[in-house]
Amino acid sequence: MTGEFDRGSAVRRLRSDDFDVLVVGGGITGAGVALDAAARGLRTALVERHDFASGTSSKSSKLVHGGFRYLQQREFRLVYEALYERQRVLNNAPHLVHVLPFLVPVLQHGGVIDRRLSRLMGTALWAYDITGGLRIGKRHARASIDDAVAHMPTLARERLNGAYVLYDAQADDARLTLVIARTAATRGATIVNYASVVELLKTEPLHDGARVVGARVNIDGEVIDVRARCVINATGVWVDDVRALDEGEQPASIRPAKGVHITLPWDKVRNDIAAIVPVAADNRTVFVVPWGDFTYVGTTDTEYDGPLDDPACTAADVAYLLGALNAIMREPLDPTDVTGTWAGLRPLLTGARRARTADLSRRHAVRVSPSGVVTVTGGKLTTYRRMAADAVDAAAKSLGVPASGSSTKRLPLVGSEGFEASAEHDHLAGRYGNEASAVLDLVRQDPSLGEPLVPGLPYLKAEARFAVRHEMARTLSDVLDRRTRARLLARDAASAAAADVAALVASDLGWSDEQVAAEVAAYRASIDTERGQSS
Ligand SMILES: Cc1cc2nc3c(=O)[nH]c(=O)nc-3n(C[C@H](O)[C@H](O)[C@H](O)COP(=O)(O)OP(=O)(O)OC[C@H]3O[C@@H](n4cnc5c(N)ncnc54)[C@H](O)[C@@H]3O)c2cc1C
Repeated sequence: MTGEFDRGSAVRRLRSDDFDVLVVGGGITGAGVALDAAARGLRTALVERHDFASGTSSKSSKLVHGGFRYLQQREFRLVYEALYERQRVLNNAPHLVHVLPFLVPVLQHGGVIDRRLSRLMGTALWAYDITGGLRIGKRHARASIDDAVAHMPTLARERLNGAYVLYDAQADDARLTLVIARTAATRGATIVNYASVVELLKTEPLHDGARVVGARVNIDGEVIDVRARCVINATGVWVDDVRALDEGEQPASIRPAKGVHITLPWDKVRNDIAAIVPVAADNRTVFVVPWGDFTYVGTTDTEYDGPLDDPACTAADVAYLLGALNAIMREPLDPTDVTGTWAGLRPLLTGARRARTADLSRRHAVRVSPSGVVTVTGGKLTTYRRMAADAVDAAAKSLGVPASGSSTKRLPLVGSEGFEASAEHDHLAGRYGNEASAVLDLVRQDPSLGEPLVPGLPYLKAEARFAVRHEMARTLSDVLDRRTRARLLARDAASAAAADVAALVASDLGWSDEQVAAEVAAYRASIDTERGQSS
C-alpha cells in the first residue's frame, strides 16, 4: 500500500508542527490544494470539518468533462481548460476515471423532423472536439436511430430525429477526492477529517495590518491552535463563512445553486452508455448515466437560499427529472422506481444578479485578503488541479517562496501506478487500482470479508474494513455514503445493512455497544428523512 493515512498521528502533527500552508476544506478543491502545496515541498496541513468530500464533492454528476453545454454559453476558455484537465486526470488516475460514451439524441419537435437542429448539434459537437474533446482519442460520430435504440432500448423511437455519440469521462467523485488527499499525505501533508476551523489566528495589528498565522481548530471537541504561515480557504459554498472569520463580515461572494440526482434500477432504463437528454421546457439537458446495476439521472439547477448543510432532494426535484426522462421513454417511470437521491450545492461565483444559476459561469477565482488568507472559489470537479495550482501560486507569492510552479500535471494518484487498464471493469481494480490486492488480502485473512457489504450491491465487507483502517472513515455514513456509494445506489438496502456494517467496523473504531446503536439509529433516521423529503 502507498503510504499511511493515519488520523491519530496526523492529529499529533497538527498540534506540534509549524506549517507553511493550512488548507481549510477537504472537498476536491482543498485536497487538490494540499497535494499541489505538498508536491512543491511546502509543509502542508489540511483540515476538513466533516468527512472528505462530504460537501459538494460527493454530490456531483460524477463527470470529468468539458461541459458540452457551456459551449452554448460561449465559455470556450472554460471548456478548453476543462478538456485539458480531463486528460490530465485520465492519465493520473486511470483506475478511477473512465472514458464514457454519451448518446446525444436529437428529438423531433411536435412530431416534425427539424434538420436545422440536427445540423446545429453536429456543429456544436465539432466545436467540442476541436476545443479539446479530441484529446480523449475519439471524435464524436453520428448514430442512426437503430444504433440509438440499441444503446437504450427504452427510448421512444418515434420521438427521435437522429443521434450522435460523443466521448467524455466519469469518476466516483468522493473516491477521487479521497485519493487526491491520500496522495497529498504520501507527499508529507498532514490531513485530518472531522476537524473544523472555528477562528483564525492573527498577529497583533502593526501599521500594515494583522497577518493570519494559523487557525483555531476544533478536533473531537477540543480546540487547538494550528500554526501556519498561510491559510488557504477552499470551503466551497462555505467560503464566505471562513472569509467572515478573517474579514469580519459575510462578503456574499457565492450564489449557491442546488442540483439533485435520482437513481433508478438499470433494468428500467437499460442504457449501455450515458445519454444527454434535452429538457425543452427550460432549455437545459440532463444526464442519464449507467452505474453498475443502476442508472442515475441529473441534474436540476435551481436557485437555493436554504441552509448550506444537507440540502434536500424534494418531490418536485424528482418529478422534474422523471419528467425529463419520461419525455424520451417508451414506458414512463414513476417516483416509486427511485432507489436513491442526492442533492448538492454548486459554489457558483456571484455573477450578474438576474442571471439564472444555470447560466452562471463555472470559472474559478483566487483572492488574497489583506491579512494573507487565500480564497479559492467556483470551478468544477474536473478543473480541481488547475484551481489548486492557481491557489498555491498565490500562496507561494504571499509567503515569498520562490515560484517553483505546480508539479501535479503528471503526478500519479494513489492506486494508479502499475495499474493495468485491462482490469478496468473489475469492481475492486476500478475503485482501488493497484491497492485492490490489499483489499483482497483482507479477504484471504478472513474469508467472511468476501461477502457482500450490502446485499444486492457489489461492495465487499473487506471494503468497509479497508475504509476504517486505511481511508480514515469514522462513521457509518463515511463507509456507506462515500468510501462505498451504497446509499446513493440503494438507500433502503444501505439502511437495512447499517447494523451489520456497524458491527463490522466497531472494533476498529473503538465503538461501545451504545455507540453502535446510536450510529445505526442516526444513520437510519437520516435516510428516513431523505426518503420523506423526496416523496
Ligand atoms: C449537482 C452538481 C453536479 C455537478 N456535477 C459536476 C460534474 O459532473 N463535473 C464537474 O466537473 N463538476 C461538477 N459539479 C461541480 C463540483 O462538484 C464542485 O465544483 C466541486 O465538488 C466543489 O468542490 P469544493 O472542494 O470546492 O467544495 P466542497 O466539496 O463543498 O468542499 C468544501 C469542504 O469544506 C468543508 N468546510 C466548510 N467549512 C469548514 C471549516 N470551517 N473548517 C473545515 N472544513 C470546512 C466542508 O465540510 C466541505 O467538505 C457539480 C456540482 C453540483 C452541485
